[in-house]
Amino acid sequence: MTRYGFEVVRDVHIGEVGDVGSHESIAGAIGNTPLVRLNRVAEGLEAAVYVKLEYLNPLGSVKDRAALSMIEAAERSGELRPGGTVVEATSGNTGIALAAIAAARGYRSVVVVPDKSSAEKVALLRAYGAEVHVSPGSRPAHHPEFVRNVARRLAEEIPGGWLAGQYDNPANPAAHRATTGPEIWTQTAGAVTHFVAGVGTGGTVSGAGEFLKAVSRGAVQVIGADPETSAYGGGDGRAWYVESVGHHLHPETEVDQWPSSYHRDVVDRIERVGDAEALRVLHRLSRAEGLLLGGSSGTAIAAALRVARPLGPESVVVVIAPDSGRSYLSKYFDDDWLGRLGFPLLREGTEPTVGVALTIPLDGHVRTVPSRATVAEARALLGGAPALPVLLQRKVSGPAQIAEVLGAASAVTLDRVPDTDPVTAHLSAPLPVVGTTDPISRAAERISGYAGPVVVAHEGRGVTLVDATEIAAAGVDYRGR
Ligand code: PMP
Repeated sequence: MTRYGFEVVRDVHIGEVGDVGSHESIAGAIGNTPLVRLNRVAEGLEAAVYVKLEYLNPLGSVKDRAALSMIEAAERSGELRPGGTVVEATSGNTGIALAAIAAARGYRSVVVVPDKSSAEKVALLRAYGAEVHVSPGSRPAHHPEFVRNVARRLAEEIPGGWLAGQYDNPANPAAHRATTGPEIWTQTAGAVTHFVAGVGTGGTVSGAGEFLKAVSRGAVQVIGADPETSAYGGGDGRAWYVESVGHHLHPETEVDQWPSSYHRDVVDRIERVGDAEALRVLHRLSRAEGLLLGGSSGTAIAAALRVARPLGPESVVVVIAPDSGRSYLSKYFDDDWLGRLGFPLLREGTEPTVGVALTIPLDGHVRTVPSRATVAEARALLGGAPALPVLLQRKVSGPAQIAEVLGAASAVTLDRVPDTDPVTAHLSAPLPVVGTTDPISRAAERISGYAGPVVVAHEGRGVTLVDATEIAAAGVDYRGR
């Protein structure tokens, strides 16, 4: 027993399989993931914070549960028949779990992924035998190339095709109502007081949240963790960098539809977590707890730590860690990726950063040209500037997310072209980007051989433009010391 009066039960399998040690197929090994207490990261907190390690599911994430539940519901309803094809649009984990379960049951699988998905996730899909279609990530929901529209079309065209449709499939939250929620209740012997999960499709927070609220007669508080700019928590939907959670709104979105897998009424409140905070927590987790987790775990655990801060010793916070950091070694755990966007580095050195060496204003924002501008409007916005980034833009002012930059407008690209043309027809490549946290010599290397304006990014936003010669000179200064 712990001092919280409950025993952490490891070997309870929720479901019909009685024997925890052996299973008839991969599907039987899904669920029953452990809770692990945070220690060093939770120092100073009176409440206990336990992380549910969903990466220990056999296919690597929390989505194993939803994938199995959706396939079994479709088998029962006859929508998925022997020899059929499972089709889905997904940033990765759902597709991986669907592809693996499909493989084990003799179905084909076709997965449509946005082009920003990590290379590791795409390789995994192919390893499980899935046919992968890559579609541009930057399309509004009504666009024919929007990933979910491509998947819907493929499911209709392929004979025996069945669209899993995790965003609106009731079997997705039902999986968490039937397994994730009951496991947490059993593992804490009913002592859980707060449940925290990131919101992607909303399946996890809704299903597990519903169960925990019902079983505790409303006592368990349910908290959704959401990226700062995501629409779920009241942001304007502009881009962010932590994958798989939040609700992004393309500026050209005509009708904003939230997934029906997300049951808003279950969630007592949303904690909004910026990318930089999520990444800082993620780095602490690997180095102070031995927990190598994915970005959305950083978002959820940052939220859980905030939730726990005012609570007393009788409180038990349980937070979901949806997947492992192994899929993101080239992003969230790579100083080259982190530095270029101005995010906190994994290893801070002694060399001055771009932010310090060039005294960059961290709260500034780069002037931009909105993507809907005409050539005449873009020329006026340029004024005397050599070039400005052209941005997928919801408002003309406001921070420029590097992820939403389409290219650059410059006096050269706009020379001798008709005033009334859209500016997007006459763009040069996006301007080079260096980050405020980049060591100055690495920034100089990034732009070596380039002359002209460079965007400086802080926490994923463009904060100012500097000339390449300034960066090169500061780099030389440093090396010369
Ligand atoms: N994190 C990761 C890594 C995921 O793959 C997902 C599912 N897309 C989520 C969080 C969000 O979970 P849910 O869809 O159940 O809201």
